[in-house]
Amino acid sequence: MPKWGAFGVQVFIKRDDLLHQYVQGNKWRKLKYNLLEAKRLGKKRLLTFGGAFSNHIYSTAAAGRMFGFETIGLIRGDKLDELSPTLDFAQAAGMRLVYLDRTTYRQRKEPDFLAQMAVDYPDAYVIPEGGSNALALKGVAEIIAEVDEQMPNRLPMTWCVGVGSGGTMAGLIRAVKSTDRVMGFSSLKGDFVDEMVADFLDKEYANWQIWKDGHFGGFAKWKPELIDFMNHFYASTKIPLEPIYNGKLWYRLNDLILDGYFEKGSQLLVVHTGGLQGMEGFRYRFGVG
Ligand SMILES: *Cc1c(COP(=O)(O)O)cnc(C)c1O
Repeated sequence: MPKWGAFGVQVFIKRDDLLHQYVQGNKWRKLKYNLLEAKRLGKKRLLTFGGAFSNHIYSTAAAGRMFGFETIGLIRGDKLDELSPTLDFAQAAGMRLVYLDRTTYRQRKEPDFLAQMAVDYPDAYVIPEGGSNALALKGVAEIIAEVDEQMPNRLPMTWCVGVGSGGTMAGLIRAVKSTDRVMGFSSLKGDFVDEMVADFLDKEYANWQIWKDGHFGGFAKWKPELIDFMNHFYASTKIPLEPIYNGKLWYRLNDLILDGYFEKGSQLLVVHTGGLQGMEGFRYRFGVG
């Protein structure tokens, strides 16, 4: 890595990728209070949604297995002859996979559709795509409490995090000190991500922004320089990244630092959101990584 110290910034990383082997990063944070709530309600099964390479599907299958829930995954798209590594793992962990064509999948947030799911899968605790809901945000807030305990003398900081469904970023925005800033790095192409995050907020907050120019062409899109960067990052830090979220974040953040974007003396706290299971799926799809 280039010497960021020369730019006067201190970069800290919260290694949530180390939380658990299978339920990593923000997916652990987002599932925690949902699973407690499912248990409290006496639910025996979890129902959720995702694509064939989804970290959320993978984590929900693993967590269901560990904590004694049946799991049902409603998967976007047709069943392929060969399961993706993610779905292969989920199925082995006991998740029942049900495939929805893309038109049906698009209705996943509609009340009518959810009412039908309640009929088709009675007594299931429904977790939205990506695991993002109010209880997820409560779990994300614990990241901040832990960091504040570990860094009692910290300065007002910029918290950096990847953005998919926006739930993790929203959880940070709601829970950081008002003197902190939250900086999101979108993995998706499009300006709608601001609104997606705002939809999870309870009021207006001024201290956040999302970089929308580091997606490499769109969700799960990539270029060789992204992979090179990740390999270089790993060689110098021994911290593994994946190309869907954390790789893109660090690539863009590195540019910002080298461009002198941050004032001298700035402290940055980057949340490593895990997702390393995705590496296998990435190699499976693209043969690199
Ligand atoms: C799901 C995920 C994200 C995005 O989190 P959202 O709360 O959906 O924005 C970021 N990083 C990793 C590794 C993820 O699995």
